[in-house]
Amino acid sequence: MSETEKLHSDLLDQISDLKTKVAEKTLIESALSAYQEKLNLFHANTSEGISYLQLDPPLPIDLPPLEFAEKYIKSAKITEANRAFAKMYGFEHEDDVIGKTLLDFWIGDTEQLKEYLLPWVSNNFTLKNQLSKEKNKYGEVIYFINNTVGIIKDGLMFGLWGTQNDVTEQVLAQEKLKESENLYKNLFYANPIPMWVYDRTTLKFLEVNDAAINNYGYSKDDFLNLTLKDVINFEGSKLTSHSFKSVLQKHKKKDKTIIDVEVSSHKIVFEGYEAELLLANDVTEKIFFNNAIQSLLKETNDIAYDFLNAFVKELSYLLKVKYIFVGKVIEDSSRKIRTIAIAVDGFTGNNFEYSLKDTPCEMVVGKAPCIYENDVQSIFPNDHLLVEFGIQSYVGIPLFASNGKPIGLMVAMDDKPMKNLTMTKLFLSIFASRASSELERIGIDEALRESEERLKLALTASKQGLYDLDLSTGIAKIDSTYSQMFYNNPNRKSETNEEWINRIHPEDRELVLNAYNDYVNKISENYKAEARHKNAFGEWIWILSMGKIVEYDSSGKPKRLVGTYLDITDRKLQEAKIQEYLNTLENKNAELERFSYTVSHDLKSPVITIKGFLGMLLDDAKSGNIDRLVSDIERISKAADKMQSLLEDLLLLSRLGKIVNPSAKFSTKELLKETLDLLQGQITPKNVKIIIDENLPDMEADRTRIGEVFQNLIENGIKYLGDQQNPIIEIGFSTKNKQHTYYVKDNGIGIQKEYFEKIFGLFDKLDPNTEGNGIGLAFVKRVIELHGGKIWVHSDGPGKGSVFYFTINPKMQRSAN
Ligand code: ADP
Repeated sequence: MSETEKLHSDLLDQISDLKTKVAEKTLIESALSAYQEKLNLFHANTSEGISYLQLDPPLPIDLPPLEFAEKYIKSAKITEANRAFAKMYGFEHEDDVIGKTLLDFWIGDTEQLKEYLLPWVSNNFTLKNQLSKEKNKYGEVIYFINNTVGIIKDGLMFGLWGTQNDVTEQVLAQEKLKESENLYKNLFYANPIPMWVYDRTTLKFLEVNDAAINNYGYSKDDFLNLTLKDVINFEGSKLTSHSFKSVLQKHKKKDKTIIDVEVSSHKIVFEGYEAELLLANDVTEKIFFNNAIQSLLKETNDIAYDFLNAFVKELSYLLKVKYIFVGKVIEDSSRKIRTIAIAVDGFTGNNFEYSLKDTPCEMVVGKAPCIYENDVQSIFPNDHLLVEFGIQSYVGIPLFASNGKPIGLMVAMDDKPMKNLTMTKLFLSIFASRASSELERIGIDEALRESEERLKLALTASKQGLYDLDLSTGIAKIDSTYSQMFYNNPNRKSETNEEWINRIHPEDRELVLNAYNDYVNKISENYKAEARHKNAFGEWIWILSMGKIVEYDSSGKPKRLVGTYLDITDRKLQEAKIQEYLNTLENKNAELERFSYTVSHDLKSPVITIKGFLGMLLDDAKSGNIDRLVSDIERISKAADKMQSLLEDLLLLSRLGKIVNPSAKFSTKELLKETLDLLQGQITPKNVKIIIDENLPDMEADRTRIGEVFQNLIENGIKYLGDQQNPIIEIGFSTKNKQHTYYVKDNGIGIQKEYFEKIFGLFDKLDPNTEGNGIGLAFVKRVIELHGGKIWVHSDGPGKGSVFYFTINPKMQRSAN
């Protein structure tokens, strides 16, 4: 083959090859265009955003990453994008985004973008599902998940294909979720109230907040190994069922102290567990505070000293503060304080006086509250009392009188830093005004006290009781003399109005109440009443009560009545006795009057008789009429006898009242025997049967006079038999309360009831025609009364006989006057 032929043949080969290639190319091209078609179709219809960033000029990929990023930002421009891409940024058409650069969609500055790109540079220019935060045409934040691939050739990057999905909605939703999660987390962890999450079934703690850790003393790890049961103190609370609100429980800290908590719980799902979120609000202080206020109010019902003493004691005990005292400014030198009430460790301490100079109290009195939490001694080095008591901490509150004048202070001190410092200050402040008014009251009381003290001395000497009545409550404070008087108990301190009224004698009540009401209602100018009151032994005693209002309330109504009780029983008895004597005297006078009248009348008639017959005697003698003379002399003799009998009775009467001799014991039966012997001349003729009780007890009295009493009574029994055919006189006795009553009983004429008293009077005779002068029973009565006894008569009426009863009481025997 020639060169030419060879050339030709080669050429032919080449042409045919070319032809084949051209054919192949066409094939490829058509395949390519089909592919392009498909791609375009895909681009147009996919929801993914697709874009091509072209780098002009291309960048060497081995540039330092920062430099590459910088240049990339500058040279990258969108040259291709689909509709979806454009829409993602708020544009209508893909052409609208052509030519846009990275910075057009970036939120933030170039520096921030550079930083964002660095990981991509170092990661071989590929991104897989990378989240980006960009902005749309309107500046709104949009989030994308991005995938990219760089077009690199010969060490140069020409461009970058990227696809992206809009995930804005999801991201925003998630952000919101995160936000609220954070919020709850913060609420939980940073909450000042201790909180736990625990497993509903095992009660194991799953999570715990800082407040719980701080409050209970357990570490977080400790807690996560504990269950709810480990913090509940089952003495005083029980495990309540799940999900509850405001239940009071007692919880136990790691150091074993018990606290009061108010717990609430609700169901949550926590990390897949069915759990409970529990809040435990420590209310120990609140409860303590409430209880303390209550007990302070309860324990301090008193006033003045009693209140302040009870108050400091209770407070020192409650707050566990070593010293609490209330001090009063001493009037004469305002630089000195006297403590009025002091408590040491909950007990009453000894009061003392001190000078304010160089003490912490100097800063308080008349000024303001002061608190020294610690080391108060070094602040007041000249206060030797602080050293003496070993004081470290100090709280002082000034007290003012109602007129604003400094009156004193309340102080709490401890030999260590005070545990309940704020609480202490709070309590002192709360009770400051009360303490002030009590101090003021003490001041007023003290002024009164001196005069009262003097009065008291006088009262004790005169055995007077003292009362101090609060008219608003009706309760009177009473002193020991008073309480001894009515309650036989000097320690009783008060009495109610009711108790007072009830022990007044019902007959005197109205009188006392009228006197009291008249005074209180300002009708009368003073209160004074004499009345019978029942004492502790049920006896009636006479009381002179007086009173004076010493205090009025703001509306001018009487508030306080102070007064005395004087036992005037003796005086009243004396008065009664005097009255009795006066009555006796009156009777005696009346008797004497009647007596002198009767005597002069009775004596006159025999004298007139004698005088008349003496004249006649003379006539008879002259005329020698002996018969008439004898009968005249008889008449004169009779009249003289009558006079003698009258004079004898008079003599007897003159002895009345001074007839009693000292008492002696004697046999009553024997005495009666002698008496009956004397009366034999009257008994026998009238055939009177005398019956004497065999058991008649012995007597202790003036034997002679009692003999005359029996004689008189028996004589009367014989005298006033009337027409009784079987006269009987009975002498006997009965006994009641160890007291013997003797009687002389007859079955004679009897006595009408209306004369029961009268017959004992002097010269009182019921029938003037009977023998006797009406002196006997008057004499008998006097003898019996001088023996401290009584005599009385009983008769069922005329014809029914009479009984004369008498008693004697030798101890009451009075000497004659
Ligand atoms: P007299 O001297 O009159 O007896 P008395 O004082 O003894 O005086 O008595 C006063 C009066 O009391 C008598 O006059 C009589 O009327 C009445 N009297 C006294 N004792 C009795 C009696 N046993 N029965 C009835 N009447 C009596």
